[in-house]
Amino acid sequence: MTSIVVVGANWGDEGKGRIVDFLADDASASIRFQGGNNAGHTVVNDFGTFKLHQLPSGIFNPNCIAVLGPGMVISPEALTEEINEVKASNVALNLCISDRATLCLPLHALEDTLEELRLGDAAYGSTRQGIAPAYGDRVMKKGILVGWLNQPEVLLERIQFMLDWKLPQLKALYPDCDFKQTAEEMTKWLLTVSEPWRKFICNVTEPLKALQKKQANLLFEAQLGAGRDLVYGEYPWTTSSNVTAAYAGIGSGLPALHPERVVAVAKSFSSSVGTGTLVTAMDQQENFRESANEYGAVTGRPRDMGYFDAVATKNGVELQAATEIALTKIDCLSGMADLKICVAYDGEHTENPIWPQTTSLSPIYETMQSWSEDISSCRTFASLPIAAQHYVNRIEELMGVPISMVSVGPERDQMIIR
Ligand code: GDP
Ligand code: MG
Repeated sequence: MTSIVVVGANWGDEGKGRIVDFLADDASASIRFQGGNNAGHTVVNDFGTFKLHQLPSGIFNPNCIAVLGPGMVISPEALTEEINEVKASNVALNLCISDRATLCLPLHALEDTLEELRLGDAAYGSTRQGIAPAYGDRVMKKGILVGWLNQPEVLLERIQFMLDWKLPQLKALYPDCDFKQTAEEMTKWLLTVSEPWRKFICNVTEPLKALQKKQANLLFEAQLGAGRDLVYGEYPWTTSSNVTAAYAGIGSGLPALHPERVVAVAKSFSSSVGTGTLVTAMDQQENFRESANEYGAVTGRPRDMGYFDAVATKNGVELQAATEIALTKIDCLSGMADLKICVAYDGEHTENPIWPQTTSLSPIYETMQSWSEDISSCRTFASLPIAAQHYVNRIEELMGVPISMVSVGPERDQMIIR
């Protein structure tokens, strides 16, 4: 049996969905353990091209149960749409949705949007899906649990309880807010939109424990990357949950998890979406952004593009307690004339183990030999140009853990296993 946790080493969008899809072939369960509809995990396989937001990326394996863990916040209407979308591609779904997960309501999305507008230039760069307010409610013990969808009286009562507390605050803070739905209307709406998947709500710990007992392979999937972890990331430009591998057991419903492998997915260059600091930002970004297709999967926002940041990535790899690295998108570096890796920072925070929170840091680069060949059809490490092999080996040396997978394209088989 092997339990594998797949997490991001950077700021998200490293290609976790693609790696999970690849690994899911041998798995009996694919579990998303945190986050919600703000994720965009791209999977390209025989079923088509998908941008998964809430479903785990292992759903394409019919022998794999797809678990939405208790650590998630679930947007009900979006989940229905996503289920319909994958079903339309003839994917056989085998869902388990945690009764302990928290609902992310349209009211949360409204709060998220109102707050970003209030903040103006100081906005967080939220996807405005309501993730922060939904997790906030959970922490304030005003959250609405997914399991209550099967207990309508409890659902109604808890929604009323939440509204009594929330609406006066909203109206005071955002005078234009004209939210008028009643608890009864919200309950009715929830029961309607959740109808297609309500039967899959369960205590996910039971099937997961049973699989663990049977020595099955389990695959845990995080959203975003270490730089966005609520506790260890670049606070306050973090997400509102723990994206680190240490949370996989709790967020998935299997607290007794001792994973054999933690795969930190790292991109061959750096990019970041939302607000924050990218120390290795390139001067000229447009062409590379275009060729590497670096736009946010949820918002379509252009990502900030940078050279591989070995300092930040090593920090991410360590936070993730990674046993190995999957290095993605190396094909995008073919033909890059001034290839370099940031090996250290110059500036005040050089020795500081927390994420850089100042733009006064400047990168110290090591120049790398570039290559011009298209490597997207390479399937062995030896068939890569020598310069590309050196690039991978140098990153491996800097990270201190093996690079076990090198991805040379978005499709499932565009993979080199070392
Ligand atoms: P995630 O959020 O970590 O799952 O990553 P995203 O799906 O948001 O972003 C990764 C993007 O890179 C997607 O468009 C993938 O299809 C694409 N991708 C993943 N791996 C590779 C690769 O090795 N090469 C190329 N060219 N694209 C890749
Ligand atoms: Mg993404």
